[in-house]
Parts: sequence; C-alpha cells; structure tokens
Amino acid sequence: MTRAIKIVGGGLCGLSLGIALRRRGVPVTLHEAGRYPRHRVCGEFISGVRREVLETLGLEDILQTGVSQESTVWYHGSRRVLVAKLPERALGISRWVLDHALQLRFQEVGGVLVERSRVTSGNPEGQVWCCGRVPARGQWIGLKCHVRGMDVEADLEVHLGRNGYVGAARVGDGRVNVCGLFRVDRSLAGQDVLSAYLEAGGLSVLARRMSVASVDESSRAAVAGFCLGRQPKEVGRLALGDAWGMIPPFTGNGMSMAFESAELALDPLSRYADGMTDWNEAEKCIERQLRIKFSRRLLGSQILHPCLTSSIGQSFLTAVNRSGLLPFALCFRLLR
Ligand SMILES: Cc1cc2nc3c(=O)[nH]c(=O)nc-3n(C[C@H](O)[C@H](O)[C@H](O)COP(=O)(O)OP(=O)(O)OC[C@H]3O[C@@H](n4cnc5c(N)ncnc54)[C@H](O)[C@@H]3O)c2cc1C
Repeated sequence: MTRAIKIVGGGLCGLSLGIALRRRGVPVTLHEAGRYPRHRVCGEFISGVRREVLETLGLEDILQTGVSQESTVWYHGSRRVLVAKLPERALGISRWVLDHALQLRFQEVGGVLVERSRVTSGNPEGQVWCCGRVPARGQWIGLKCHVRGMDVEADLEVHLGRNGYVGAARVGDGRVNVCGLFRVDRSLAGQDVLSAYLEAGGLSVLARRMSVASVDESSRAAVAGFCLGRQPKEVGRLALGDAWGMIPPFTGNGMSMAFESAELALDPLSRYADGMTDWNEAEKCIERQLRIKFSRRLLGSQILHPCLTSSIGQSFLTAVNRSGLLPFALCFRLLR
C-alpha cells in the first residue's frame, strides 16, 4: 500500500520534505500560494544545518552553491563592538536561487506542484502544513533587499539599531543581502522603507553605504503581522518549519530548522505512506520529536532576543562584550 502525502506550502520545509518523500517513492502533491522564483524576506544566512541532514533530504549539492561564511562583525549604531570568527562555518545563499533550485528538484523527482494554490482546510489525514509563520497581530516588520557594489567588513555584518537589528551577508553573484527585523512604526512609509527604518534606528551609516551602492529594486520584500516563537496550533494539524515555531532571525537558524524538521518527519511519514502506522501515530511521533529537538533553542533565542532589540539589552550586551565576558561561542551553541 502507498498512501499519498499532501504538502501545504512550498518554502524550504515543504519543498525539502517533498523531495525527500519522492526519493522514497511516496506520491506527493504540494500546494504553494505563490509562484517561483521570487525574493523572500530572509537574512539568507544559514547556520547550524548538518551535512547528514542535507544528505538524507537529497539537497547537499544544492546547498553547495552557497557562499561560505566564516567571519562576523557587529555594530551598535555606528560603533564597531565585536569582531569574531563564527564558531562554525555558515552559508550565504539567495532565497531566489535556493527556493527555485528546490522547486526544480521537487518536480524532477516526480512531485506534483500546484502553484498559486492557497489551501485553507482539508482532510487532516496525510496533510502536512509547511505554510510558514501563522498570521498574527505582531510588533515586527521584516524588510530586505539585495545590493551590488557594497563592501562588507566580514562575511556577516550585524547592526544593532534603536528599533531592531539588521544583517548584511554576502550571498554570491556580487550581491549583499541586507535584511532587518524592526519594531513596526506606522509613520515610516515610502518606496525605500528599509532606509527609512535604518535612519529611524540610528543606522544612517549603513543607509548611506547602501545609497551609494546599487540596490536591486526587484529584490525588495517586506513581511509583517507575525509573532516569534511557537505558533498557534490548530487541533489535528501536523505543522512543520516556521508553521510549528519561528526562531528569532538573529540566530540564522530558521532555515536550518525548516530542513531539520523535514528530516525529522521523513521516517514517520514514510511509515504512514507504507501503511505501517496510522496518521495519528505518525503525527504524535513527529510532534514529540519536534518538541525534543527545538524547545531548548526556541527558549534560548527568546531570552536573548530582547537583548538585541531593546536599548537597555544592547547596552548590556556591548558592556559585557567590552569586558571580555561575552560567551559568544556558548550562546551560538545554545541556539543550535
Ligand atoms: C526578517 C527575517 C530574517 C530572517 N533571516 C534568516 C536568516 O538569516 N537565516 C535563517 O536561517 N532564517 C532566517 N529567517 C527565517 C527563515 O526565513 C524561515 O525560518 C524559513 O523560511 C522557514 O521556512 P518554511 O518553509 O517553514 O516557511 P516559508 O519559507 O515561510 O514557506 C512557507 C510557504 O508556504 C506558502 N503558504 C503559506 N500559506 C499557504 C497556504 N495556505 N496554502 C499554500 N501555500 C501557503 C508561502 O507562500 C510560502 O512559500 C528570517 C526570517 C525573517 C522574517
């Protein structure tokens, strides 16, 4: 017996799960509300994903096209406060490139993709929700764009501003992805809303550097109306990736969690497809493993997040770092 799986949402989690299930011969249909390729609000900095996870999913070659990231520099306003080697190598990769490559791979291995198809309900059995963060009244806005011709001081620059934080990471093809998470300010609008948020947060040096470089206008993207942390769960729904829980972006670990949750769900879903377990058992098993694997990092990141987004927290962090007591490598490990 082979039962089919229906995946709702074709971001990293849905596409990688679809590819891995197809490689095991499971019939998969994936419904994606949008189209490919497209830019997405994301720092495009992947950290913490293990090679074995990518191998199991069949994605190792795709991720190899990313730019190796080894160094980071942090600014508090215009002051440089930290220069460090990343405790482990990360990757910079454009979501335009990555999501498109995964879409093509999913179709190559026989997955059925239905674009521009927004699913709102359906029989929960055999249906996996990989539809990203759950819409909610939240205080955050994410903004991003690609810039060409902008020099960066390290593979990843992090800028702490009064209203949030921004990452600037090399993503290949001469592009730097500038992406920030800010507290929503309804007085800021206009075409270049990212620069407006940078100026409002005291990050005018970064705004000036961008203004003399070349911004790819088609890459501008924005997202608002979400909350960080565990997402509200609808009874009976199996949710993975951001739809299960959204780790604050400063960790650079959300994309890894999307891949890891797809890997973790793979065996229970394959057993369900082969008729070896029923849906309830598969769902319970996956939910338990998600909690075991991700609860600690979600908690750690939510404790640290206010240190990066409030003036008091930022001053505390920079003071601790000045005194040489900031356990950078330990915090890094705690969040993975
Ligand atoms: C400002 C910001 C910066 C970030 N920076 C980083 C970073 O540097 N590094 C990192 O690792 N992570 C980062 N992240 C997080 C990362 O982008 C996510 O964790 C990751 O994309 C989650 O993948 P996913 O597949 O679960 O969800 P998504 O990538 O959001 O994909 C969900 C998909 O589902 C589709 N969809 C939604 N609803 C429906 C529906 N009803 N029917 C059909 N389709 C639907 C959507 O169109 C979308 O394509 C950042 C996030 C933000 C907001």
